[in-house]
Amino acid sequence: MRTRTRGWHPPVLVLLLLALATAPARAAWLSRAVDGIMGTRIFVELWAEDDEASRQRGEQSIDAVMDEMRHIDETMSVYKPTSEVSRVNDLAAKQAVKISPELFGLLTTALEYSRITEGAFDITYASVGYMYDFRERKRPTEEQIKSALPAINYRHVLLDAATSSVRFSQPGVRIDLGGIAKGYSVDRGIDILIARGYKHALVNAGGDSRVIGDRFGKPWIIGIRHPDHPDQVITRVPLTDSAFSTSGDYERYFDEDGVRYHHIIDPRTGHSASKVRSATVIAPTATRTDGLSKTAFVLGPDEALRIYNSLPDVDAILVAPDGRVLYTRGLEPAGSTDAAPQGH
Ligand code: ADP
Ligand code: MG
Repeated sequence: MRTRTRGWHPPVLVLLLLALATAPARAAWLSRAVDGIMGTRIFVELWAEDDEASRQRGEQSIDAVMDEMRHIDETMSVYKPTSEVSRVNDLAAKQAVKISPELFGLLTTALEYSRITEGAFDITYASVGYMYDFRERKRPTEEQIKSALPAINYRHVLLDAATSSVRFSQPGVRIDLGGIAKGYSVDRGIDILIARGYKHALVNAGGDSRVIGDRFGKPWIIGIRHPDHPDQVITRVPLTDSAFSTSGDYERYFDEDGVRYHHIIDPRTGHSASKVRSATVIAPTATRTDGLSKTAFVLGPDEALRIYNSLPDVDAILVAPDGRVLYTRGLEPAGSTDAAPQGH
């Protein structure tokens, strides 16, 4: 079941499944990749007994994860005119719009991340962001940015729990959940697999991933790629039972007159945010890692590390514009602080 509806680049993070399982007999990894959900590739891998019934159950579980991803895409995508989020964008500046508990919950979470990141993460970035099209090399003029910029501010999104509704405080406000919906969908996928009893699994959507358990006594290994050389790994991190998200300026972008225009927008300026080249965040849930991985682009490494270090369950690896690799306190290795590829 492979379809491709949008031409986004492959996952930000190169998943290096180096820890080849020393697998007990009569069990195997079952996996599937499907293109074109949420504008990206979804990859699910789980460990199932190697008999027909278990394999079937495994395939059905992967189906259930893919269905959930499609449902979230249908609800949250701004590229689908019939989605709930598109309806909110059409109406919420004029009237309160009643929304599903799921969307209400995710908007509540998104606003929390705006507060945690001191405004760096802001779903109203879309008030300017909708004028960019990175595939078409299209960007707004300075005048267009200037006139739309006042509409960027997460405080314009007013949620009313009593009526489960959302309203925008002023015209021109738009939201886009592209910076958190994939992480959220990964968590929903993992919930499905946990509920079905899987103890070793991985779900990946674009730059957002989460793993259950380990790969049989060995951790999962994630590789952080070099921003300019997709095939070079600048560092590797072992993980079990964790989520991780990577944001990079090499994902959706175009270069013009020496300037890189890419898909992470500084809510304060309406321009691409370029204070780091990539940011990988590690935390218990993918909603959390997705909500935090844009911060360093907007605030820069020092401010972002201050915020990450203040969150006890969060770690991060940043690649600065000069190639330095910066870590939160929990990950700091002895030595190694530049982006020279490590030997294999
Ligand atoms: P991926 O889409 O591969 O998971 P990211 O997690 O880096 O990549 O998310 C990038 C997306 O986040 C952009 O395409 C856009 O939809 C959204 N976005 C851009 N700037 C911001 C911002 N300042 N705050 C919240 N979301 C943003
Ligand atoms: Mg993401």
